[in-house]
Amino acid sequence: MFKRSLRVIRIFDPWRSRLCTCPMKFNLNPYTGCSHGCIYCYARTYIKDFNKPRVKLRLLQNIDSDLSKIPKGSLISMSNSSDPYTPPEDKLGSTREALRRILNGGYRVLIITKSDLVVRDSDLLKRGNSVVSITVTTLDDEVSKKLEPNAPTPTKRLKALENLRREGIAATARIDPIIPYVNDDVEMLKELINKLADAGVMQVTASTLKVKADILRRVCNAFPEAAGKLRALYADGEELGNYIYLPRNYRLKYLTTVMNLCYVRGLPFTTCREALRIATPGIGCDGSTFINMPNNI
Ligand code: SF4
Repeated sequence: MFKRSLRVIRIFDPWRSRLCTCPMKFNLNPYTGCSHGCIYCYARTYIKDFNKPRVKLRLLQNIDSDLSKIPKGSLISMSNSSDPYTPPEDKLGSTREALRRILNGGYRVLIITKSDLVVRDSDLLKRGNSVVSITVTTLDDEVSKKLEPNAPTPTKRLKALENLRREGIAATARIDPIIPYVNDDVEMLKELINKLADAGVMQVTASTLKVKADILRRVCNAFPEAAGKLRALYADGEELGNYIYLPRNYRLKYLTTVMNLCYVRGLPFTTCREALRIATPGIGCDGSTFINMPNNI
C-alpha cells in the first residue's frame, strides 16, 4: 500500500527476507552514495557514482509528504545504503534537518553510522525516541584505513559512543564485518569489546563478511597477504540470499567468540543476517529494542 506513494521513506525491504531478523521498519537515505569508501560496502555494487554523495532531490518536501502517510510512532532507519553522516553532511546539515522533522513528528529513529559527526545532533537525539548504532570494525588505525579509508578513526568512533551515552542517548555498536585474517584477532576483539563496554554501549551486534565477486576482489587487493586464504575460504562458503557467506563453522566460531567476550562484560549480543540462532533473548539485531528505555540499562 505504502510502496506506490512513498518517495524517500521506503519500507525496509530486507525485512521480508528469511535472513532478516529486524522488526518491521522504514528506511530513509538522505544521501545517495557515500564517501567513507568502505571496501566491503555492498551498496557500491549497484549505485552509480557511489563515492560522490549527493542529497536526495526535494528531500525535505518529500519527507514531510511521506511522514503524513505512515503511522505515527513508526521506526525509521537512517540509513541502510549510505551513511547519514557522510561528508558533506557537516556542511549541508540535511540529515540533521531530516532528523528534526522526523522526531518532531512523533516517529522513532534508528541511526547507523561510522561518523562521530552524529554527536553534533545530540540535542535532537537526547529527547528520546532514537537509538544510534556506530560501527567499529577494529582498533587498528592502519587496518581501518584500508577497510574504511575516509571514515573517522576507531578512536573517534569510540569517543562518539562515549559522548552519546554521557548525554543519555541510547547507543549500540556493530562489529561488522568480521573478516578472516584481517580483523579477527581474538585479543583485538577482546580489547575492542572492553572499550565498547567502557564507553557504555547497550548492545553489540556482530556479523561476518558476505561477498559478491567485486567485494572479495577489493578486500583481497587491500590485504594481499590474506588474499589466498580468503579466496579459499569463500570458495568453500555457503550461498545465502545472493551472497557467499563464510562456511557455517567459521561463522559459528567467530560469532560465539564475540558473544562470549560480550557476556564477560555483561553486554547483550546479537548477529545480523547470519542464519544462526545466536543472540541474547529479547534483544533485536538493530538496537531498536533500546528506544525509549531507561539510560542505565
Ligand atoms: S559507511 Fe556504510 S554506506 Fe558508506 S561506504 Fe561504508 S559501508 Fe558503504
